[in-house]
Amino acid sequence: MHFISRLAAYILVLVVCLGLSLGLGVDMAFAHSEGGITGGFISGFTHPILGWDHVVAMVAVGLWGAFLGVPAIWILPIVFPMIMALGAALGILGVPVPAVEAGIAGSAVVLGLLILLAIRSPLWLAAIIVGVFAIFHGYAHGTELPTAANPFTYGIGFVFATGLLHLLGIAFGLLVRWPLGSHLVRAGGGAIALVGFAFLFGFV
Ligand SMILES: [Zn+2]
Repeated sequence: MHFISRLAAYILVLVVCLGLSLGLGVDMAFAHSEGGITGGFISGFTHPILGWDHVVAMVAVGLWGAFLGVPAIWILPIVFPMIMALGAALGILGVPVPAVEAGIAGSAVVLGLLILLAIRSPLWLAAIIVGVFAIFHGYAHGTELPTAANPFTYGIGFVFATGLLHLLGIAFGLLVRWPLGSHLVRAGGGAIALVGFAFLFGFV
């Protein structure tokens, strides 16, 4: 019960923050190529939450982790933000990384399909898959980080929001314990893959 109540508290925080950021009328563009970052923590926090390309992939990491069970359920949501920070560092250093937008959309497609098809993988392989995709999510913003009013708090906000999205995925993913819930989670994976496809082919 401790676990459930702690999780419920996290989700409550997420919902409140999401409501606040939406209420503030923060308008975030999904494209990563135009303009720079002007804000700090709020700007970093709201970007992944209001950008569907990030939301679906980050929720998918939690979902797949919950599907794979312990210890993946906790390790994947730690691997993703860590490698994402590494990807941001690559962006700051100007190290060329190809097809960043396709990599972000592709992460939703691949992770969504893995969940839809209920594909299990050894932990090391799952960590590599999640880690490779995390590079793109971090890189997309590392390149523009130097223009941020406060790059450090922007990064903190971004990682914090990412963690909350992972937790949202884990919470939903816990439904796999029940047969009907398992179908729901797999359907969720299918929806995530569709959103990824839409981004990949420029429908959104
Ligand atoms: Zn973004």
